[in-house]
Amino acid sequence: MSPLGETIRSMIETEGPLPFDQFMQLALGHPQHGYYMSRDPFGARGDFVTSPEISQMFGELLGLWAAETWARIGCPSSLRLVELGPGRGTLMADALRACQVAPEFMKSLAEVCLVETSAVLRKIQEDKLADYDGPLGWYDSLDQVPPGPTIFIANEFFDALPVRQFIRVEEGWCEKLVGVNEDGTFFFGLSPEPDPLIHAPAPVGYVLEIGAAGHQFAASLAARIADHGGAAIIVDYGHTQTTYGETVQAMRNHRAVDPLSDPGECDITAHVDFASLARAANATGARVFGPITQADFLNRLGIVQRAEALKRNASPLQGIKISRELTRLTSTAEERGASGATVPGMGALFKALAIIEPNAEAPPGFEPRER
Ligand code: SAH
Repeated sequence: MSPLGETIRSMIETEGPLPFDQFMQLALGHPQHGYYMSRDPFGARGDFVTSPEISQMFGELLGLWAAETWARIGCPSSLRLVELGPGRGTLMADALRACQVAPEFMKSLAEVCLVETSAVLRKIQEDKLADYDGPLGWYDSLDQVPPGPTIFIANEFFDALPVRQFIRVEEGWCEKLVGVNEDGTFFFGLSPEPDPLIHAPAPVGYVLEIGAAGHQFAASLAARIADHGGAAIIVDYGHTQTTYGETVQAMRNHRAVDPLSDPGECDITAHVDFASLARAANATGARVFGPITQADFLNRLGIVQRAEALKRNASPLQGIKISRELTRLTSTAEERGASGATVPGMGALFKALAIIEPNAEAPPGFEPRER
């Protein structure tokens, strides 16, 4: 059993079964043994691949999105550019390189901030951003980032925030709790009583996931934007409407595994409930746009033109690679996912949601569509 498995086992033995969100939080974020704390999980040899790791075009377009959004909020003379959960730092490196075409924006950057809890990933991010000569800062949490106008970027950050899971029984919604067997393996059970606060009508057996941590995070982010000015772009896989059904999945070596099988050794994520994030953000007075699909978002930002420009300076072989990357990021066709089931391509599965300060016009990619 892994050291984290032992820790969770003794917690359960002394305090009783753990709600799933607490298990997920420990599995990902335990200070010593959490999944993200001890490794670089990305790439072909890691457990999963993200959009900025697929193509430089992703980070470049998000960088240009930030520069244009800065212009639309009136070019504040001092701005923080913050990335939440920056992984290997690839997105930010590509973004800053692309923004060389916007020198006034670059001059306004008081600090580029990386909100990252993992020491291993911080080191990789530092190396990736070694060429950037402006001020760079690392922070453990959003609260620590100094106030002032800020543009936030979050790709595949919200899917790593823990969710609670409930199952509909005759009497109401019972929470899924994690227990431990004598041999140290973990199993799911149900809370003895239904949760009195949940009233959603649904047939017996239905699953409801509640991403309270994501909702709370979106509320804090939007409150900062409403109070201090700025904007945020959130890209992740998830659904536009709050729905029933289980979406938690665990990945190891690009394969789906049991989320309880080996805490700390596999990535655990849940689909993001964009409707819940939008509600949280709206309530603060900030303006909310989307969610729209990643395909619409990247196409409207000009990914096809960017791919053509890159291909003009590329070898034929590199040209084929660029076309493949473009398709991978924007395809909406069904494909076979890690669990073996068919899933929509990244262009449809992933969504983009924007938050912007009150009274600002729509950010790039979210303009009201012409008829
Ligand atoms: N955005 C990157 C990485 C996504 S993986 C990409 O697109 O490639 C999730 C990232 O969020 C990792 O860097 C992980 O260490 C970080 N992370 C997860 N939970 C976090 C939390 N609560 N606070 C700060 N960072 C967190």
